Amino acid sequence: MTDDATLLAAARADAAWVVDLRRRLHRRPEVGLQLPQTQAIVLEALAGLPVEVTTGTSTSSVVAVLRGARPGPTYLLRGDMDALPLQEDTGLDFASEIPGAMHACGHDTHVAMLLGAARLLAERRDELAGQVVFMVQPGEEGHHGARYMLDEGLLDAVPEAPVSGAFAIHISTSFPTGTINVRPGPLMAAADHFRITLQGAGGHASTPHVTADPVPVAAEIVLALQAMVTRRVDVFDPAVVTVGHIAAGTTNNIIPATAFLEGTIRTLSAERRADVVARVQRVAEKVAEAHELTAVFERVEGYPVTVNDSVVAGQVEARAAALLGTEASVPMPDPLMGAEDFSYVLERVPGAMAFLGACPPDLVPGESPGNHSNLVVFDEAALPAGTALYARMALDALAG
Ligand SMILES: [Zn+2]
Repeated sequence: MTDDATLLAAARADAAWVVDLRRRLHRRPEVGLQLPQTQAIVLEALAGLPVEVTTGTSTSSVVAVLRGARPGPTYLLRGDMDALPLQEDTGLDFASEIPGAMHACGHDTHVAMLLGAARLLAERRDELAGQVVFMVQPGEEGHHGARYMLDEGLLDAVPEAPVSGAFAIHISTSFPTGTINVRPGPLMAAADHFRITLQGAGGHASTPHVTADPVPVAAEIVLALQAMVTRRVDVFDPAVVTVGHIAAGTTNNIIPATAFLEGTIRTLSAERRADVVARVQRVAEKVAEAHELTAVFERVEGYPVTVNDSVVAGQVEARAAALLGTEASVPMPDPLMGAEDFSYVLERVPGAMAFLGACPPDLVPGESPGNHSNLVVFDEAALPAGTALYARMALDALAG
């Protein structure tokens, strides 16, 4: 079996290929579930490898299966490939050439590292007892791309051996470059979007008693939601409720008939998620009712909690330490309250996601432009660590 030093050296030797692929993707970002140019680049990069490739029917997803020399279980490695609707302002010489689209979450690096790992693993097929499924997904940024792939049979890509373990990497400038950051249990939050429409009765601003004014009711709901979170939610199973958008009225002397609020609910367990969604609805409806208005509550379901298997998270930590050095393997004390649709895969099979730090060395992690910023720059020197760790996870899972 390829040892850690050899594997990392191989990843470093292939770094130019990975960086070139990453920059090609970076120049031509695509947003959402249909990424035809990105898919074409992925298929071209896979073309020389001994893998069986299928493409999605409802999205431009790509699944590649690498069969090892001996039979065994099937292990899944995932990279997402969609960009964000954002104008890039980095000034990089390989910056986005598409107005209003940018690989600002580093998914271009995920694809490049994943396919770099496919190259390393293809050279080591004789060490594999089982199959590696490479999941290259569109639509991570709120489009539920992973769910489409699961619905299309992702986990049965190898019919005789359904996927039994999974691993993913997410790059981030919040961590020092080259570090692997992971934790057991919840890694990222569930995210639900809610909308509240208040129906009152409009009229002259001088005679509120003959109207049903939604403005003070909207304000009261915003405050009541914060009181609900602090008084009704156990701090050890926390929640964040943010009203990010509020709209009502047109001018100073008219009481509007309606008001609108929307926001996000972030939670770290399925139980808390259901609980807080119900409480937000209750607060909105009951506060409105108290003032003789009505509230229409609507929830747009987002991603579930991303939960790392505790055994696998420990393996990631240990393997990152062996591969990259103990100082490069950093346990995360807390989850992040962002959301991630790899959660759908981790609901079905035990596995883990880890963050790869990629803050440029001249900047401060967490203070430099972060993921989703128009100015974010990822340190490409971190990529061989991710490529090697993807490969290490599959080699160890399929060691036979
Ligand atoms: Zn992302």
